Amino acid sequence: MEKVTKPRYAKNGDEAIFSQLRQDVSILVQQLEPKRRGSILLKAVFFPAMYLFTYTAILVAGNQPGIFYPSYFLLGVFLVMIFLNIIHDAVHNTIFPDKKLNQGYVYLFDLMGANSFVWRQRHIRFHHNYPNVNGWDTDIEQSNLARIFPTGSALPIHRFQHIYMPLLYPLYLFNWLLVRDFKDFFNKKKTIWKLVTFPRVEYVKLFAFKAFFLFYLIVLPKLVLDVTWLQVITGFVIMLLTASVFSLMVLLSPHANIGSEFPLPDESNSLPHHWMMHMLTTTNDVTNDNWFIRFFMGCFNYHVAHHLFPNVNHIYYPEVTSLLKKYAEKYNLPYRQYSLGASLSKHYQLLKTNGVTEDIFEETM
Ligand SMILES: [Zn+2]
Repeated sequence: MEKVTKPRYAKNGDEAIFSQLRQDVSILVQQLEPKRRGSILLKAVFFPAMYLFTYTAILVAGNQPGIFYPSYFLLGVFLVMIFLNIIHDAVHNTIFPDKKLNQGYVYLFDLMGANSFVWRQRHIRFHHNYPNVNGWDTDIEQSNLARIFPTGSALPIHRFQHIYMPLLYPLYLFNWLLVRDFKDFFNKKKTIWKLVTFPRVEYVKLFAFKAFFLFYLIVLPKLVLDVTWLQVITGFVIMLLTASVFSLMVLLSPHANIGSEFPLPDESNSLPHHWMMHMLTTTNDVTNDNWFIRFFMGCFNYHVAHHLFPNVNHIYYPEVTSLLKKYAEKYNLPYRQYSLGASLSKHYQLLKTNGVTEDIFEETM
């Protein structure tokens, strides 16, 4: 694909509010930093250790079905927790002051089956720069099966997407890890090719890590344990199903819903809002908040703060969000928060609404 020019954000006066907010956030983070550094490092050790411990339990005690299947289930849970608490922050360079150490941690993602090179590009250069922009947000890249963008091309099958998409969602990670990563590398029509050139070495890493992922989760347990191929594949399927459902509860709630805008660039490639306003109109928080969400779910419910301050570790987001809410009230900014149930139901409504398209020909004939 020919490399194309990126859309630009409008300049309309919100810059001053945002730069004031940014200053306040940086003071806040400096104040909290000495107390919080320990928790950031604790997470960076605790979650991978739990994954490794669970995997070891499979190899050591997996001949007992009461350990074998629940361990694969737990691997699915820890996969998502490692993603939310560590990999996601590492890709934004917010765990360690040293960039190289952060980059090293991102390889955990490759060990857990996802290609980190392609995800870094998708997440930073596309999703974070252009959330909810059709043709640029790779998190909701249009596939023929679903019409998430109101401006996406419509097919008759989309009328039923609110029925079949929720049934397909448990396959989310099977698609990501075993199909989509390969498509991004080999199909030059994919959005990522608009900006990215793939170095040769990344193709080698792609195949090497995917093979290693399948080897240690399927082949090695089969060799070590007294289990059938069917049992070991069932374990692997349990792991990915668990991780898919768990991760989608988090990933579907902050952007792709009926309450969000899906702004488009005009003829001169300019987006309608200032950058900060774009993040506020395309992103919402989820109100459910407790110690479990803060420690285990990487504060993903504070998603507006993440989009405004991706270079700040998630551990500070509850306080950053309190500050943001004060700004929203003072300057009348469109900050939105829904309960988890409400945001998932708004996602469902989006599927339903975008599935129905007015067909001009039908009406006029
Ligand atoms: Zn992010």
